[in-house]
Amino acid sequence: MEFFLRAQFLIPLISVLALFPLSESNNNQFCDATNIYGDSECNVMSSVSSKILIKGGTVVNAHHKEVADVYIEDGTIVAVQPNIKVGDDIKVIDATGKFVMPGGIDPHTHLAMEFMGSETIDDFFSGQAAALAGGTTMHIDFVIPVDGSLSAGYEAYVEKAKRSCMDYGFHMAITKWNETVSEEMEIMVKEKGINSFKFFLAYKGSFMVNDELLMEGLKKCKSLGALAMVHAENGDAVFEGQKRMIELGITGPEGHALSRPPVLEGEATARAIRLASFVNTPLYVVHVMSIDAMEEIARARKSGQRVVGEPVVSGLLLNDSVLWDPDFHFAARYVMSPPIRAAGHGTALQAALAAGVLQELITVPSTQLRKP
Ligand SMILES: [Zn+2]
Repeated sequence: MEFFLRAQFLIPLISVLALFPLSESNNNQFCDATNIYGDSECNVMSSVSSKILIKGGTVVNAHHKEVADVYIEDGTIVAVQPNIKVGDDIKVIDATGKFVMPGGIDPHTHLAMEFMGSETIDDFFSGQAAALAGGTTMHIDFVIPVDGSLSAGYEAYVEKAKRSCMDYGFHMAITKWNETVSEEMEIMVKEKGINSFKFFLAYKGSFMVNDELLMEGLKKCKSLGALAMVHAENGDAVFEGQKRMIELGITGPEGHALSRPPVLEGEATARAIRLASFVNTPLYVVHVMSIDAMEEIARARKSGQRVVGEPVVSGLLLNDSVLWDPDFHFAARYVMSPPIRAAGHGTALQAALAAGVLQELITVPSTQLRKP
């Protein structure tokens, strides 16, 4: 298990990074996350000791916390107990008065993602540096196929991820369907270690898949033992809502939320859950933003269906009033899909997370798009 020291307790990040296992693409490198964004390469830190003792901190795990030392050799925790005695050749980090806890895993990110003529502003280095500073030490990003090709998409993301300085993994989006895609899914699972595939029920004319394709994908996931994921909004109805907003002349950030209300998230969530039940395969619903969607997940789970629901920090803590701010640039920062909902949805989602109705919690650090 990985441990990290909370950055706000002023332990130099350089020491903290020494505790992390190396990412798959940087087997001989540690990255200094304090590099200025835009530096071309990570620094090689040859002076990092392979034996480290984190001394006197409060070690926090899921089941308990205790004041203890943590002894690490070659990136692996060897011992957690009070007063570990070590020789002089070992790097000692004093963690007195600080918490030492497992690093967070963010299972849903979009770094360096190209989308509708723009690109997310954080790449695999700057996004990971920000994550490390906040205590997240691993993330799972979504490979987007290139013109429907999974292998081309995979190669592109391997390239993007060369700037990595922490652990990561890949999910993959499926944006169209044919025999080649079906065969490539198998290659991804068996040779590339990707075993979760995301289907977009939104983004008509771009990533959206219809029910026929979704069912093909669900069947394929089932046959491969892979996990199917859905972005659950009814893309056809969202398109209708967008036309309505334009007719009404509502083109600000508030129009984004008005064009895709909770009922469309609830509908798509219910449909995906039922089709997954029909195919008899597990389903993971990404970024659950509304009571409507959450209640569908709760109902399915109560009936014994294997459905996982993933809320987003912004969906738990904010409400749609931010989208009505008269400052366009302020309000535009809060545009996401599904949108941030009216007051009340967030507290209901918090309760669902606390009760285990929803399971994961993500940040989606993909906001802020720029022109490539
Ligand atoms: Zn996403």
